[in-house]
Amino acid sequence: MTKHFLPRTTMSCSSERDLTAKREARLTNNSIPGQWVRGLLFASVLFLLGGIFLYQNQKFNDGKLHFIVCDVGQGDGILIRTSNGSDILIDGGPDDSILNCLQNHMPFWDRDIEVMMLTHPHADHLTGLISVLKRYKVMHYVTENLKYNSLAYRKLQDVLAKNNLTAKFNFSGDRIDFADKTSLLTIWPKGISLENQELQDSQNLTKDNPSLDVNGFSLIELLSYGNFKVLLTGDAGVLVEDKIANSIGKIDVLKVPHHGSKTGMSDLFLSEINPKLAIISVGAKNRYGHPAKIALDLLAKYNIKMLRTDKNGEVEVVSDGKSFKVYAN
Ligand SMILES: [Zn+2]
Repeated sequence: MTKHFLPRTTMSCSSERDLTAKREARLTNNSIPGQWVRGLLFASVLFLLGGIFLYQNQKFNDGKLHFIVCDVGQGDGILIRTSNGSDILIDGGPDDSILNCLQNHMPFWDRDIEVMMLTHPHADHLTGLISVLKRYKVMHYVTENLKYNSLAYRKLQDVLAKNNLTAKFNFSGDRIDFADKTSLLTIWPKGISLENQELQDSQNLTKDNPSLDVNGFSLIELLSYGNFKVLLTGDAGVLVEDKIANSIGKIDVLKVPHHGSKTGMSDLFLSEINPKLAIISVGAKNRYGHPAKIALDLLAKYNIKMLRTDKNGEVEVVSDGKSFKVYAN
């Protein structure tokens, strides 16, 4: 009898163990999908980030120079990304719309602006730089040595001080070289310091101070990458350009001076530099009447292809140092 019951008892114990094992197995089976989902999600996020990284790396580090006249409305904001990924910002426009342009033309992991340049301290060129300084690490700040009094300019100087950035003042002949042989050569102003004279807006000029127009001291820069050349002119006018016209040589792209104002360009200037493309940075229906008919007629007279940010949106020019391609609406 004992022999008979022992196996049954044993069997009974074995069944309980089986049940427990099955329950555990069921529990284990239930938890597998959860782990799988988490694992799959993690892998998908990694895959997506990797895809974005590869895409952006290929797009923004293609070994070519990118010159972008951002669509900032009535003002100037220009981004140059060199062939090996240095970022140069020339002016920042009248508001923070420059940030969209930076976001669209720099990879998400690049928060460095190697050189930030202010051509002259008017609000339509400097305001966006304040927003840029709050979101990006600016390595070098370059401008001209002058005295100018405005709320926006004081604000910019405060933010620069908070970022421990001191201005480097550029004059004609100064050159900034980048590792890929891109260079920025200052053409204007000539080596005079204006820190003891306060510059004026054109409407405040009198017969006694005609030469103190702040636009006339805009930094004029020649950007070179191989044979590709761009002239950046700030808001300079004819008086300046006729002085420098024969010292520049032929160029490929002209950032039209002063948003295409009627006093921005002359025959002499255009015939000397002979650009293939002219880009006007200008806001739609602006109150200054920019660009002026006389400027558009002059470009047409020299058969220069013209694009303008109010009609074509941002304009991007991409060069390998030999030729260039233009992207715009
Ligand atoms: Zn301007």
